[in-house]
Amino acid sequence: FDAIAVLTSGGDSPGMNPAVRGVVRAALNQGISVYGIQKGYSGLLAGDLRLMTSSSVRNIVQRGGTILKSDRCEAFKQPENRRTAVQILKDKGIQGLVVIGGDGSLTGAHCLAEESDLAVVGLPGTIDNDIFGTDDTIGFDTAVNTALDAIDKIRDTASSHERHFLVEVMGRNSGFLATHVGIAAGAEMVVVPEYEVHIEQLGQQLSESRRSGKGSSGIIVVAEGRDPGLTYRLAEQLRQQGEDPRVCILGHIQRGGQPSGHDRVLASSLGAMAVSYLLAGYSDIMVGVDAGGIVEVPLDSVIRYRKGLDPHLFELALLLHK
Ligand code: ATP
Repeated sequence: FDAIAVLTSGGDSPGMNPAVRGVVRAALNQGISVYGIQKGYSGLLAGDLRLMTSSSVRNIVQRGGTILKSDRCEAFKQPENRRTAVQILKDKGIQGLVVIGGDGSLTGAHCLAEESDLAVVGLPGTIDNDIFGTDDTIGFDTAVNTALDAIDKIRDTASSHERHFLVEVMGRNSGFLATHVGIAAGAEMVVVPEYEVHIEQLGQQLSESRRSGKGSSGIIVVAEGRDPGLTYRLAEQLRQQGEDPRVCILGHIQRGGQPSGHDRVLASSLGAMAVSYLLAGYSDIMVGVDAGGIVEVPLDSVIRYRKGLDPHLFELALLLHK
């Protein structure tokens, strides 16, 4: 390889910067030039590629967001636009590409690998941890900790006012974030898209804990899921059962902030390993984590299968507050 490029795409996540740094420094160490593509696939189509040096990634390991910027780009879903993208990369002498992003971004990476002779490696960058083939994603740990920070504060108010709070966390269509946050926050209940909500049961449970003196305040963690407004509707239903809960939507604060130590190490390792896999001749793969080790998974299977929520973990979330 003479030159490779790196981009971040889709929703940003804390740790994308150390991942970019890992790619850039590992490639430069091997004498390979690295281009940073600005604003994901949009920047690629616009030809916004900048040659990076070691100092381009200085002082970013601790910064949230992504110095390369990110975007969503509908145009990239069209094969003719992807052909333009391949030509833009080839004109610069780029033979390898690292894509850091979620499900959609990795789908775009797979298309590029299939339709050209470019070597393409994806890295899982999302706070949702909803990517098949990897136990962990860049940004997940930080987002869990950010949500916990907020919930610990909300608990103070919940307790002062003897009130229940429904706290909505992100996670797209998956309940990973909600389940982890629920367990770590000691939530009274976790609502995820993978399992049906039994609102009457939840209402009864809250009333019982109030009556038995176990708790007159508590936290119910709700995954945003596919159903916008679900959290407000749950609150309304609980009101009809005699509770007076409040709603807090954590929203975008979960996507920002300094990456945790765990995410910095994960992102740095995956970034450097992406370069190693490119040099070893791999393409059309994602580099992820399995049982604590770094593994490569064909992008084809990453995008084809849905990662299932661990039922034992979800049961644990429900069990521990009883
Ligand atoms: P997150 O879920 O964490 O926000 P993501 O990568 O899944 O990240 P998406 O908006 O789904 O976010 O996808 C990001 C970009 O990837 C899209 O805007 C588009 O440019 C590209 N992409 C998504 N799906 C496809 C596809 N089917 N074919 C080609 N490119 C795609």
